[in-house]
Amino acid sequence: MKYAMVEYDVIIIGGGISGLLSALTLSKHGKKVLLLEKDDAVGGNCNSYMVDGFQVDTGPHAITHLREGPLRRLMDEYFTYMPFFVDYGHYYVRTEKGLTKIPSNIKDFVTFDVLPRKDRLMLSQALTKALTQMTFGMLDGEQPVYDYLPKGLSGDTYDFVNAIAYFLSGKSMKDTSVNRVLYGSSFVRDSVPEDIFEDVEMAPGTSYASLITEKLSKYQLKGHLTSFSRLATNKVSYAQAYPRGGLRSLLHAVLYSMPGTVQIKTGSKVCRILTGGEHAIGVATDTDSYSSEIVVYTGFVKNLPSLLPLPSEYVKKLSTIDQTLSLTIWLGLKEKMKEFDYTGSEVWFKGGAYWAMPISNYDASIAPRGKQLVGFTFVIDEKNDLDREKKKAMELIMKAVPGIEEMIEMTHYQVTIPEKAAVTINGYFAGTRSPVRNIYLAGTDTDSRSMGVTRAAYSVLEMLKAMKEDKIL
Ligand SMILES: Cc1cc2nc3c(=O)[nH]c(=O)nc-3n(C[C@H](O)[C@H](O)[C@H](O)COP(=O)(O)OP(=O)(O)OC[C@H]3O[C@@H](n4cnc5c(N)ncnc54)[C@H](O)[C@@H]3O)c2cc1C
Repeated sequence: MKYAMVEYDVIIIGGGISGLLSALTLSKHGKKVLLLEKDDAVGGNCNSYMVDGFQVDTGPHAITHLREGPLRRLMDEYFTYMPFFVDYGHYYVRTEKGLTKIPSNIKDFVTFDVLPRKDRLMLSQALTKALTQMTFGMLDGEQPVYDYLPKGLSGDTYDFVNAIAYFLSGKSMKDTSVNRVLYGSSFVRDSVPEDIFEDVEMAPGTSYASLITEKLSKYQLKGHLTSFSRLATNKVSYAQAYPRGGLRSLLHAVLYSMPGTVQIKTGSKVCRILTGGEHAIGVATDTDSYSSEIVVYTGFVKNLPSLLPLPSEYVKKLSTIDQTLSLTIWLGLKEKMKEFDYTGSEVWFKGGAYWAMPISNYDASIAPRGKQLVGFTFVIDEKNDLDREKKKAMELIMKAVPGIEEMIEMTHYQVTIPEKAAVTINGYFAGTRSPVRNIYLAGTDTDSRSMGVTRAAYSVLEMLKAMKEDKIL
């Protein structure tokens, strides 16, 4: 075995969006950075590639909280090149009758005829009650959505709420907390000023939502009152978008902004974090080892114990992190279908659920001329046979969009774990500090705020904050 010992200030393990944002920000703070990625390309779950003339993404993506969220903060402060974002559009629900906008306020609920009128009334009452209780600091937001729902709703309504719960947390309404629905939807989250999130100490094991609820009950009521007015009027901009040129445009913006001092090595799987006494001194792959002052780990935190010895209590906590497996089916269509004549995404919830996005509507160059590309994502059970899951998913698409079968020119499957941790009730999130002083963590299993790329950006901000506290930056 040949060891090349090279000195770095920081070694980053993993070249997904969290690792790359870590490399970008730390290098712009003057650090000499090495990033090691096990795959042949960087990007992880944030990339695009060609399949038979169609440019598919690693799952259909809505990039959220772009107005003043964590990604916006990172872009403003550290990016030299900006992706161009196209306004996201709307969230729809598809039924046999076609598309209907998903309600985001009381007014929408009144006209949302996808569900029985009685159920809509009961749901909007439950929502108003939750917000009222929250305002007075009386909401046990960690209770399951299912338990909070009024009794006597129809099967369709339960299926609808369940589909939304899977979208927001990766788990069913029995494992999704009321807080997650309130914060994950825009009812509360967008109406709270960003600075309130900055001061929150994320001790490992603490639920972010409960911390925020506690903070909010002491905070001025303005935030809540805004929620109420939103509930009544829907005067809200979601600040969500899709990057023109596909998801890889976001990845490219990070890569183009990266100073030349950052070294990136692909095809380099870190199999050990080297320690000396109480702290890390570097990392080793099968062929090389590298020394550094600091290590940032952005792979699955659950796998961290395979890289170095850690206290058993900590290992036990990490083992409770839960994930969701997803199946995405990309369909390249011979012609544009009128069913997909919109920007945004749609949910189907009857007899199974999917979340779909016709991404070529944002940028025609994503599909060959005159054709269309639509991604459908399903939550699947890893215990089930994959081929059967694929077949079931395809059948659901055919049922939801009659006539699509004759239009399919390209079919491409992706089986992925969208988030490294699902936001279940009392689900564990590792936080940015590890038990080893100079090993920091970033990625979607270290911070429970928001989801996806936004959550990855939060985790990087949290890591930077910890390093500033530790006088490393
Ligand atoms: C179907 C689907 C839909 C999604 N929808 C959205 C959406 O609408 N909006 C949104 O914002 N997000 C969405 N996401 C989630 C988003 O893509 C991810 O949250 C984000 O890309 C995660 O970034 P990450 O860097 O934390 O993790 P990853 O992308 O998993 O990156 C981790 C990287 O570390 C590497 N690695 C791990 N271990 C090692 C090791 N030992 N040595 C070297 N390298 C290692 C891995 O190979 C990987 O490249 C979706 C994802 C999927 C799959």
